[in-house]
Amino acid sequence: MNIIDQQVKALIHKELDRQRRGIELIASENFASYQVVTSMGSWLTNKYAEGYPGKRYYGGCEVVDEIESLAIERLCKLFGADFANVQPHSGAQANMAVQLSILKPGDTLLGLDLAHGGHLSHGSPVNMSGKYYTVVSYGLDSEGRVDLNQVRELALKHKPKLIICGASAYSRDWDYQTFRSIADEIDATLLADIAHPAGLIVSKQLNNPIPHCHIITSTTHKTLRGPRGGIIVMGKDFPNRIGKKDKKGNTIPMSNLLNSAVFPGIQGGPLEHIIASKAIAFGEALDPSFTIYSKQVIQNAAFLSQSLVTQGLRIVSGGTDNHLMLVDLQSKNITGKEAENLLIKADITTNKNMIPNDPQPANTTSGIRLGTAAMTSRGFKETDFAKVSEWITRLIERRNDESFIHSVKLEINEYMRKFPLYPEVES
Ligand SMILES: *Cc1c(COP(=O)(O)O)cnc(C)c1O
Repeated sequence: MNIIDQQVKALIHKELDRQRRGIELIASENFASYQVVTSMGSWLTNKYAEGYPGKRYYGGCEVVDEIESLAIERLCKLFGADFANVQPHSGAQANMAVQLSILKPGDTLLGLDLAHGGHLSHGSPVNMSGKYYTVVSYGLDSEGRVDLNQVRELALKHKPKLIICGASAYSRDWDYQTFRSIADEIDATLLADIAHPAGLIVSKQLNNPIPHCHIITSTTHKTLRGPRGGIIVMGKDFPNRIGKKDKKGNTIPMSNLLNSAVFPGIQGGPLEHIIASKAIAFGEALDPSFTIYSKQVIQNAAFLSQSLVTQGLRIVSGGTDNHLMLVDLQSKNITGKEAENLLIKADITTNKNMIPNDPQPANTTSGIRLGTAAMTSRGFKETDFAKVSEWITRLIERRNDESFIHSVKLEINEYMRKFPLYPEVES
């Protein structure tokens, strides 16, 4: 057992080098702190802890109980919430657990169309949510904003049991209050999936879904800057609204249904090493410095979006309220796929993304999605994003000039040396 795996170690360091030298604009990515990253690699991974703190199916859980309770306590404080489950392995698992707790196979859910910025787990036909439930989708209006009239029409017509607000590629804030009034008209449960803007919400830079939405799900690794994982939160617990009763005939609290849906519903043992790391990330998000970070993320996104517009690009919905934007590339005669492949040659990482009513198919697209959370963690301010905008637009203009592309790559690699990532680790 004393073999040192040089092969995997070398690959882990190769990936660190890739992250260090490039510009990371994938909107769903971030750079977690060194303590968040290293705490995931602990011996907590050795422990089985099926169940919840104080109610485990294994012995020896005293310490992991303390860790998980701390994570729950910090998360509740962060959201001003009464209930939290920190066990979902990912955002998709959190959504699956909510759906399992509220819907029976065949029941209807209403969510944002994937092609308009929604997420696979909100009813896409290739996802479990689309295979097991009847799915109705709303979209964006001609201005690129969530069409609340359509949401209401579809809700009244199809009477979904679950309405989901939240998206993966939507640059505007959400009107949770109006969603709630629509949900109340048909007695539906309202879920806000804040996987993307969670960090900006807890630092009070965006509308707060807690007072309006029955249930909140999120990832922990996007703007929240924690380890890769999921969470479920409720501002206030409530008796479940689908008529589930216990043996004594009492209506079961929603919190119990959610906990049972996560385990044993869809998962086995919790990842206590990741939960420890979540606890650390929640602690970081409670610190006033996280609010300063979130403000900068939003300022950087507003700046980047404005400067791309100045360069002749269109931003879907005309701008951004959060950390991301969808860039329509049609005016530059380049597809999303071509732009993604071009930019990566200069170590700028982005992803192609459909724009509303995209004439191109999903594997080509007319847009790219850009986010500022990761580079803000590296220390980027507006002046640095001015460079980013210039690099992107120049690369698109001179896309066939390989030596120019290479010179930009070298310039970027040099630039990034001023923004150290995990200086604790030698390359
Ligand atoms: C990223 C995302 C998820 C899923 O996260 P995973 O951790 O990749 O499963 C869920 N919902 C939305 C809206 C997302 O953007």
